[in-house]
Amino acid sequence: MHRHPDFADVDLSSFGFGALGGAGAEEHHKADARLDNQRQGVWYSVHCDNCGQTQGILVSWDEFVYGANRLVPPGWVHEPAIGGMHPNAGCNQCRAVLLVAFTPDECQRQIKAGVMANHIQEAQVAAMSQALAQRAQPQFR
Ligand SMILES: [Zn+2]
Repeated sequence: MHRHPDFADVDLSSFGFGALGGAGAEEHHKADARLDNQRQGVWYSVHCDNCGQTQGILVSWDEFVYGANRLVPPGWVHEPAIGGMHPNAGCNQCRAVLLVAFTPDECQRQIKAGVMANHIQEAQVAAMSQALAQRAQPQFR
């Protein structure tokens, strides 16, 4: 399997659509991730497998905290086949579901990065995790 060390700089169209399919959405469907300027979360640049358009999806810190606690955020879809979950977001252009999938580990990593960048406070994450633990069972093993 071909992997590029810095996927953000790769012109996905040069691979041909679908060439990267089936090899783990975590690496292949997210071309780029950056912290939101308003500190709301992380923007992902997502490439639509169906029509080829690239568009942004904002994942909020709340959603990452759900994920890191092995819970599916409200409005998200759990995909057991890939061991992850994804926002129920459609392509702006063709309406196909954008398969940008997140694992609990990745959510945890993003939260750490957010705390390091001072975009979210560790205390907020801890408080929310505790609240979630009291009202829901983990949905991932
Ligand atoms: Zn599309």
